[in-house]
Amino acid sequence: MLFDVHAHYDDERFDEDRDILLSSMHENNVGHIINIGCDIASSEASICLAEKYPFMYAAVGFHPHEAANVKDGDYDTLIALSKHSKVVAIGEIGLDYYYGKDIMDIQKKVFREQIELAKSVNLPFQVHNRDSTRDCLMILKEANMGDRCGMMHCFSESKETAREMLNLGMKISIGGIVTFKNNVKTVEVVKYVPIEDLMIETDSPYLAPVPYRGKRNSSIYVHAVAEKIAELKGMDTDEVIAITEKNAMEFYRID
Ligand SMILES: [Zn+2]
Repeated sequence: MLFDVHAHYDDERFDEDRDILLSSMHENNVGHIINIGCDIASSEASICLAEKYPFMYAAVGFHPHEAANVKDGDYDTLIALSKHSKVVAIGEIGLDYYYGKDIMDIQKKVFREQIELAKSVNLPFQVHNRDSTRDCLMILKEANMGDRCGMMHCFSESKETAREMLNLGMKISIGGIVTFKNNVKTVEVVKYVPIEDLMIETDSPYLAPVPYRGKRNSSIYVHAVAEKIAELKGMDTDEVIAITEKNAMEFYRID
């Protein structure tokens, strides 16, 4: 079944129909979803969703947009949250120089600290990277991690960057942007990266794939990402769904 490795169902855009929508996942062939934390409150909300729905899992962490809001004691809270049986990752962590140019140094510090935190609790992490590839690669290199370390969420960089990420032991997650018209870069990345290193995601409620572009995104639409990958790699969609599911189950240690 489809495994959406990155979604935000605690977002207010789901307030009206969250339960109805999530209850329809099984009939839409969505077998697993990881809900992502951006700060302490959304990390706790992710755990609540994971407790309510057997097919949901949680990631806990500070999004780069929140880097300046990390307070004393917050990492202790994150460590405590990470012990929950349904927490499978630290995230989303990383860098965003598109929005956060004024807090670049704080972002780098908080990114490094959360990589160390992930190592200390032995969980993989999910990385957000926007207009910050050079620093992102530098920090990941410094961190000197093993094989099962992190996943680049909604990868939108070049094939060359993908190669460097793979060399560092990172996995690549593909979102709806691969279906967007004229997105040559991500098409090349999908053709280049071995299927064993790929996962699929929606980043719901953002970035709905074609033909749903502009709508509120949901995990149901992740099938469009799987279909596009199948087309680009000359594989069956069912095969792409099965392999990306297996990749995510192993990476996030889900039975
Ligand atoms: Zn996200």
